[in-house]
Amino acid sequence: MTSFDYDLFVIGGGSGGVRAARIASGEHGAKVAMAEEYRMGGTCVIRGCVPKKLMVFASGHGAAIDEAAAYGWQVEKGRFDWSAFRHRLDAELNRLESAYTRNAETAGVTIFHQRATVADPHTVRLADGRNITTRHILIATGGTPFVPEPYADLGAMTSNELFLLDRLPNSMLVLGGGFIACETACILQGLGVQVTQMYRGRQILRGFDQDLQEHVAAAITQQGVKLEVNTNLTSLEKLADGRFRATCTQGRTRVHDAVLFATGRRPNVDGLGLAEAGVALAGNGAVVVDEYSQTNIPSIYAVGDVTKRIQLTPVAIHEGHAFADTVFGGSPVKPDHDMVAGAVFTRPEAGSVGLTEERARARGPVQIYMTSFRPMQTSFIDAETKALMKLVVCANTRRVLGCHIVAPGAGELIQIAAVALKMGATKDDFDRTMAVHPTMSEELVLMRQPARSS
Ligand code: NDP
Repeated sequence: MTSFDYDLFVIGGGSGGVRAARIASGEHGAKVAMAEEYRMGGTCVIRGCVPKKLMVFASGHGAAIDEAAAYGWQVEKGRFDWSAFRHRLDAELNRLESAYTRNAETAGVTIFHQRATVADPHTVRLADGRNITTRHILIATGGTPFVPEPYADLGAMTSNELFLLDRLPNSMLVLGGGFIACETACILQGLGVQVTQMYRGRQILRGFDQDLQEHVAAAITQQGVKLEVNTNLTSLEKLADGRFRATCTQGRTRVHDAVLFATGRRPNVDGLGLAEAGVALAGNGAVVVDEYSQTNIPSIYAVGDVTKRIQLTPVAIHEGHAFADTVFGGSPVKPDHDMVAGAVFTRPEAGSVGLTEERARARGPVQIYMTSFRPMQTSFIDAETKALMKLVVCANTRRVLGCHIVAPGAGELIQIAAVALKMGATKDDFDRTMAVHPTMSEELVLMRQPARSS
């Protein structure tokens, strides 16, 4: 029997890779190594979900101070001190990076803090020239921001650079209408940056329920972001003073202090040696895997964003865990990609699980229960912020097929709704559930008349 240096070599120390390595080593006794070329923790911890959410908190305090004043507090709102925040943010990310390293090492994983590429189906080559043999290879290299041509080399920002800014710009153009663009627009506007968000399509958050899209777009506009839909860049020029002159399809030309492309993410496969090793890649670069995350090369697996299934941290973690149980635990587990809830951390937040009204309608008759209202907390001070609660119900079975919420804390609410939907709850189950009063979410169990049926 061939002997290898390791049972498993994981390329990429992000959420999916670390979970797979820890379970394979710590729970199933495999000899595991991992390589990470940047910082342990990956996109989520180092330049994604975690720093983003901390910025959401920072940003929300501005509006909270205004609200406090309206409630009667005598407060004076100063300016946001980015460098004080950055200092704390850096310390927190260092702490989390250390925790990721420590947890993997405690589980018995050997970490190489350098780049690794695939040399052949059982060999990984480290940047320092060493070749390491392994029974299995797991590709968990995630994604990387994509900047469309011809703007790639202009020095505009992506989300990677957002958390490394020395100071906040006065004005920023954010390109895109997806998760990152919408979240960044709200965060920065809340921190005092004048944000213009430009999206090429009809409405932001393509793929989400249309009522949710409209509601979030209205909220973004209301908080001062200049949201321009059906608009794209036609030219972008970096000026001598470091600012950017942007011209759009409507012919308008404006100068912005900074430009951030949030125009999607691509699988991080460049130079990894995958094609050379015979691993099949999709047209968008994603590693093609079967339902057990195995590629066409039996010894090579892939999990997380590099496979472009559902680009969310908990999904990558789940896939990594399922991989380790399947290959090293002797119990084949297919990752479950059904009814995955998600949240967009705009202000207010948007949460979604299950089918949109449009997708559900394409499958059969539906009943739509929906309410849009000013929550007590904001109506008291005459603020415009509105909440949206929407249930998409199958007209034949009464099963709730989708739940869409825009409200403060929608990310928290949708987690609970997701449990009910995953269990197959019907509208009648919602109706029999006693309301918790006074809350926003009680509306979810109090909607009696469908807003529309088909
Ligand atoms: P998204 O795919 O969500 O959005 C990309 C946006 O860029 C779309 O609006 C797209 O337009 C636009 N776009 C793409 N190409 C071009 C182009 N050539 N010119 C102009 N516009 C373009 O990607 P994000 O980068 O925002 O996020 C990546 C993924 O990361 C998300 O899909 C999500 O899975 C994950 N994520 C999750 C978060 C969360 O859970 N809260 C937060 C951040 C990211 P169009 O719609 O027309 O294609």
